[in-house]
Amino acid sequence: MGNILCEHCTGECCNYIALPIDEPETKRDFDDMRWYLMHGGITVFVEDGDWYIQFRSVCRHLQADYRCGVYETRPQICREYKARDCDYSGGDYEYDHLFTEPEQIVAHAKEHFAEERAAAPRKKTRKKAPRRKHGGIKETLTQLGVR
Ligand code: SF4
Ligand code: SF4
Repeated sequence: MGNILCEHCTGECCNYIALPIDEPETKRDFDDMRWYLMHGGITVFVEDGDWYIQFRSVCRHLQADYRCGVYETRPQICREYKARDCDYSGGDYEYDHLFTEPEQIVAHAKEHFAEERAAAPRKKTRKKAPRRKHGGIKETLTQLGVR
């Protein structure tokens, strides 16, 4: 089915690259992602728990007929890519999360930190020790002329 599917496709798999990135943990990490998404052609997605940044960019070897211009020497990653798993086939190709706009990652960050706060064990409130209003025993002894 793979090859037949490719016959009807405009080479979608040759129109982007996606690179793994660290899962964001801090507010700064999320803010960096907000910056990524301010740029055109950038998406961030999560698949099977792994985070990726995707750059929309057409491979210079994709020909006008949507065939590979360097088929015999195409990179290994292109050889390993299977049509049954590809975007074009749709169906079970689903993201855990897909972010295309900065506002989406901001909303996700808010949820993330709210969940983190809810899951964190509540801090025990330490009973405050009574404050001394004078200088303590040394001062008292000094005042009494003992020291
Ligand atoms: S693998 Fe998928 S995206 Fe790539 S050309 Fe074939 S059908 Fe299109
Ligand atoms: S090398 Fe060929 S198969 Fe690989 S991305 Fe470019 S056009 Fe597509």
